[in-house]
Amino acid sequence: MSISRKIEGFIEQASLIRKMFEDGLELKKKYGEGNVYDFSLGNPNLPPPREFQESLEQVVSENIPGKHTYMPNAGYPETRARVAENLSSEYGIKFDFEHVIMTCGAGGALNVIFKTILDPEDEVITPIPCFVEYFFYVDNAGGKIKFVPTKDDFSLDIETIEKEVTAKTKAILINSPNNPTGKVYDASSLRELTDMLKEKSQKLGKIIYLISDEPYREIVYGGIKVPSLFQIYPHTIVASSYSKSLSLAGERIGYIAIHPEIAGVQKLLAGLVLCNRMLGFVNAPALMQRVIARIPGAKVDINAYKRKRDLLCDGLSRVGYTVQKPEGAFYLFLKTPTSDDDAFAKSLQRRRILTVPGRAFMKSGYIRIAYCVPDETIERSIEGFGETLREFTS
Ligand code: PLP
Repeated sequence: MSISRKIEGFIEQASLIRKMFEDGLELKKKYGEGNVYDFSLGNPNLPPPREFQESLEQVVSENIPGKHTYMPNAGYPETRARVAENLSSEYGIKFDFEHVIMTCGAGGALNVIFKTILDPEDEVITPIPCFVEYFFYVDNAGGKIKFVPTKDDFSLDIETIEKEVTAKTKAILINSPNNPTGKVYDASSLRELTDMLKEKSQKLGKIIYLISDEPYREIVYGGIKVPSLFQIYPHTIVASSYSKSLSLAGERIGYIAIHPEIAGVQKLLAGLVLCNRMLGFVNAPALMQRVIARIPGAKVDINAYKRKRDLLCDGLSRVGYTVQKPEGAFYLFLKTPTSDDDAFAKSLQRRRILTVPGRAFMKSGYIRIAYCVPDETIERSIEGFGETLREFTS
């Protein structure tokens, strides 16, 4: 075998969601697209907002010199300035354009951040269940990820996080609203977390960064607001993107924002800009940068996702499941009546329902249901969910 042994191992590890996707294609070929209930991918199914389409058409038709050429690695200053303006008005802290770096999505942002801050063997602590790719992103930068469990309701367990903080800890990585649980961390738990980090930083004589992965920040329900970390912890770095809030996952556009008073701000910025280049991203896509600069505040119809969440939660409760209603994002992390989530997902698959076993997110005994799908898919799948539940409980 000519590929690296490490990647060979990773292929195996990363295969769960991909396998579901491939099985789904097979099923769709066999039974027809409309007869397969595919909840496996977090691929937004709502169209981007109208303003996006209009601005894109304008940008494409305008005669802008150097429209498609290279640019500064951090992105267009005008785009960065617009993002900084938004951040300033949302958080009441003065962000400058230089505190924002445009990236190839939140995934690109996280890779750039880890490459910039991690020395070999440095540790990043993250609560689980979590987004599958975190392990790979930290490994890409030569660091080590440490997983810590959340509480039963998926809220942060600060005591457990605290026990894992050592001299090697470089950062804590959190994601709220969360993939896969839909949990939004409340203000008091975040305050507790940042107080603990301040104390630990002082004891250890080092800065511990708080990295907040926020691609779902705008997707919240019932008037919930995602609390800001910038207001309570100066060593905060945010990774975000328009993949979900504008349904632009394929366009690869996002950003890094750093707190203007973060320790060593100039060196950190220089590192982030260099790493955007070194990792081969070079810069975020030019057209997308121009478009998003023109549509601040635009977002997809969140009410449509709320309707889907309610349809799914009500339907599953009706057929006997105990459901913890997600507060944001478009995922439901559903407890299975067996710890063998693979077997449960396979049983659902026999009913043409595709979900992802919880172990892909470091937590067995659950399945993840991505409900960014047509309402009809949800409605038509409920009976199958009920049959599988009965298969395991009667
Ligand atoms: N972080 C989380 C928690 C995600 O769920 C995703 C994508 O699903 C990403 C990051 C990557 O998003 P992007 O498409 O912006 O790279």
